[in-house]
Order: sequence, then C-alpha cells, then structure tokens
Amino acid sequence: MINIKENEKLSVMNHSCAHLMAQAIKHLYPNAKFWVGPVIEEGFYYDVDLGDITLTKEDLPAIEKEMKKLAKDGKRIFREEISKKEALEKFADDPYKIDLIERMDEENTIISMYTQGDFTDLCRGPHVETVKLLKNFKLLKVSGAYWKGDASRPMLSRVYAVAFYKPNDLKDYLKMMEEADKRDHRKLGVQMDLFHLDPEDPGQIFWHPNGWKMYVTLQDYMRQKVIKDGYQEVNTPAIMPRTLWERSGHWGHYQKNMFITESEKRLFAVKPMNCPGALEIFKSRTRSYKDLPLRLAEFGHCVRNEPSGTLHGIMRVRGFVQDDAHILCTEDQIEAEVKKFCLLLLDVYKDFGFDKNLLVKLSTMPEDHVGDEKTWQHAEAALSEACKAAGMEYEIQPGEGAFYGPKLEFTLIDAIGRQWQCGTIQLDYQLPSAERLNAEYIGADNQKHHPVMLHRAVLGSLERFMGILIENYAGAFPAWLHFEQVAVVPVGNDFNAYSQKVADFLSVANIRAKAYTGDDNMKSKIKAISSEHKTPYILVVGAKEQEEETVTCRFRFSSQLPQKTFSLKDFRDYVLDKVQTHYNGI
Ligand code: ZN
Repeated sequence: MINIKENEKLSVMNHSCAHLMAQAIKHLYPNAKFWVGPVIEEGFYYDVDLGDITLTKEDLPAIEKEMKKLAKDGKRIFREEISKKEALEKFADDPYKIDLIERMDEENTIISMYTQGDFTDLCRGPHVETVKLLKNFKLLKVSGAYWKGDASRPMLSRVYAVAFYKPNDLKDYLKMMEEADKRDHRKLGVQMDLFHLDPEDPGQIFWHPNGWKMYVTLQDYMRQKVIKDGYQEVNTPAIMPRTLWERSGHWGHYQKNMFITESEKRLFAVKPMNCPGALEIFKSRTRSYKDLPLRLAEFGHCVRNEPSGTLHGIMRVRGFVQDDAHILCTEDQIEAEVKKFCLLLLDVYKDFGFDKNLLVKLSTMPEDHVGDEKTWQHAEAALSEACKAAGMEYEIQPGEGAFYGPKLEFTLIDAIGRQWQCGTIQLDYQLPSAERLNAEYIGADNQKHHPVMLHRAVLGSLERFMGILIENYAGAFPAWLHFEQVAVVPVGNDFNAYSQKVADFLSVANIRAKAYTGDDNMKSKIKAISSEHKTPYILVVGAKEQEEETVTCRFRFSSQLPQKTFSLKDFRDYVLDKVQTHYNGI
C-alpha cells in the first residue's frame, strides 16, 4: 500500500481535500471551528470543534455529499500572504487559529492563507490549483481527540478521510480496508481467545493461554536465532533509580513518557528502554578490546507512558518487550556488525515470508547532532556498505537520523500490502560517552576508549509483531507458530480414548495437540475448529485408524483435497519437520 505522506503529489491532493472537507463541514455546521488537518500515511484527518455536537459515522455521508457539490463547483484555490498582526485580526474569533498564529515566533513572520470560494484557512500549502481535481475521496471514520492530545482540554471530533487521483486507486484502497477490517487483530484476538485489553489499564495486554503459547514460541524462536548468531542473553531490572536516568539523559528528555515511583525518599523509574541496563553490565568489569564486539540481547519488559488516545490494540501499547540487543564495538567493527545484523534480519523475515518486499531506509545526520561530521560520514558509509554487502537496496532519508547517530530502518509488507516498520539498527556515540554513562574499554594501545553502541531489533516489539502476524495470516498461522497445531476429532464417542492417546503421543514430542472428546457431533466439531481456531491439521479417527494405529489428516482450508492417512509416527515426524524448519505454511 502506498504511504500517502511520503508521496508528494498525493500528499498535496490529500491536504487540499482536507480543506474541502473543512469547507463542507462549515457549510453544514456554521459554528464549526478547526484545529489542525495534517496528511498522514493513510490519508488525512481534520480536528473539528462543533461545540455540543459530536460527529458520528452517520454524519459522514452528508459531509461527503457537500464536498462533491463544492468540488463540482470547481473554485480555484488562491494563496495569500499576510503579516502575523493581520492574521491575528483576521482570525480574532477563532481561538484555535489564534493559538497557531501565536506560536509562530517572530513578529515579522509572513503567514500564508489559502482560499477557495467562501472558505479561507491558515496553511503553509502547497495545494492543487482547483477543488475540481478532488473527485476520488472517501470519509472513513470519526473519533474523539483531545485538543493537543491533552485529556484536560476539550474533546474535538477527528474526521479521517483519504483521496486519490485515480478512481481505481480509491477502489483498491477501500477493498484493502475491508480486508484489513476482517483481519483486525482485536477481533481475531477475541475470536481465537488470544488476549484481552482492559480499558481501565490502557495499553497493557492480558495474554490468554492461546496467545501466550504463540508469544513464547515467537520469543524462543528469536532467542535461538540470536544465540546462534553470537549474542549473549542478559536481563536488567525493571525499575532503576533517577540517578541512572539522569546520566543516561532520559530524565531530561524522556521523562514525560516514564512511569516514576518513589521509595525511601528516592525516585525510581520503570524502564522505558533497555539501553542503560546493557551499559551497566558492560561497565561492571574492566573491558578490553579483545571483548569486542560484545553482543548483549535482552527481552526486557519496557513501559512507556503513551497518551491513551494514541494506543491501538496490541499494536501500540504502553507495556511491551522488544527483541532488543546492544552491540558494543569499535568503529572499525561497525560495518561487519551491521552486515551481520542485516543477514540475521533477512533470515528471520524469510520464515514469515516477509523477505521479498523489504523496504530499507538509511537515515543520515540531522542538523541538530552531536559528534563531528567526519565520524558521521564514516558511520553512514559503514551502514551503506553493510547493506550492499547483505544484498539489500536502500533509500536515503537525508537528515532523518537521531541526534546521536545514523540508523537503518526495515519496513516489511504484509499479505494485503500494508507497510510495517519493524527492524532497526541505530548507531550511538552518545550514550557510552563521558558525558553520559561513560563506558570504556582498554584498547590495543593500552589507552581507554569509548565503544560505539548499536541498538538493534529485528521484530521490534513482540506485542506489535504478534499483531502484525495475526493480521498478516488472518489467524491462519503457520503450524510452527499456531497455539493449536493438531486437533484430534473422533468420529464418535467410542473413539474418545484413541483420540486422547493420539494427542498424548504428539504432546510428548512437544506438538501442541488437543483431543476434542466433547459431546458435539464430529461435523460441528470440525466446523468450529476450522472456523474459530483455524487449526492447521485436523485428525479424524475412527475404527480403522484405531485398529491400524493411524490418523487421517485434513489440512486446513483444503477440504476439497483428498485427505491423507499417516501412521502415528509418520504424522509426528511430518509435523516436527514443519515446526523445526519454521515452514511458512502447514
Ligand atoms: Zn537501546
């Protein structure tokens, strides 16, 4: 799917469409006041204050109709420039616009406005020439959003919409949205009994047995991958003292996202990141250049105080675990380490079928940065060489790096074309420096040096990655990941004992198998298992199977195909082969 924000032409059109939507809303609700209407990855939204009126989905068709009417009228869009003083006068009765204008610092700032017909809005632009070009749009949804994301301020209505140049692009997009809705991980999470969320405790996940089986499988899988790749696993405290966070810089820059607590008159914070903990381990003994690169992996549980309005299912949460690791190395080792990481990432993504359409972005030095330019150039060259060596094509995002170092970001594309940025590797010269946590090693020259720190994750947050997997597979997980790999269904009650025996036999080999020995008839059991659990293998057992110690397997979604009969041992080996090779299917 296209990222509208990153497509210049589409982005302009979407922003013009936001103005058209505001104009239509103003026609229908003359008291409407507007806050901001930015373009986002999936279109645009506008935050509107309608006083006592709260917009609902039912109100959207009328707004859409008015927009079509205005577009047909075909008014041109004009740009005008005015001074800050003039702008304050012109928008004097609109507190939201006044707020925006007042935030533009300098007195002599030139402010631009755009006008179409009877509607004028403050805006930097650019815009399309005429509203006539705005034909293929759709209002998608409306939700409440606090002004400036602050729960103590008024609640505005946020209307989401999207616009395209070609009618077919809009059609494809709406079809994709419909498909996405069917796959929504929040719906499947309930249907498959994977997890639940409690509105009283925003952004914290309660994993149920089914979901947790998969979560642990995913985590163990990643653990095996990194251990094989030369990492050592560590674990650091969930709560660490203010003094540490002050030195790491989090207290100064990240405090509003941290949960802070007090004990014995000292302040502590729940960790929002694992990085300082990793450096504390590095610093706990004298390190030599011979210890480098030191690769410390941690599945550390982090908590970030994100505004509740920005949370989304298990995709965007407050409490999560990253497949995090920190590599401490010398500058000369950066390229080899980054290449090694890229290859690991490709290897992992392949197991989910995500390696085909991977987007890689290299973010370079921002204007506001620490460290000298030569070091940055060296670091950026190392990242780019590493990508090439790993056979990855990449795109450069100039100036998008963090202030402490450049980074690579890896975006995967799911089964219905949506993009998810998951993997990342970030160079950091800052945290190990003398100004921060002062990590040192003794070099070959017998002098003290600061190592470079690489922060990296392949999956990102395990919680979010689980959400992506649920939607990517629409719940039909590959056998190795599924919480229920095998369902054993007897043709009648007489074969309950044999069903249980089969399930027990498979369980001994660590295959997740369940015997369905309840009272329902066979047909309804199979129907429920296929539709609700999407279990990859359903074994049907009766007299013949019991006598011959066999099972007859129905493969998921292939009811039309002939079923296959295996000896018990052969079936076990078949499943183990799929599981052990992380086969991306059944
Ligand atoms: Zn880190």
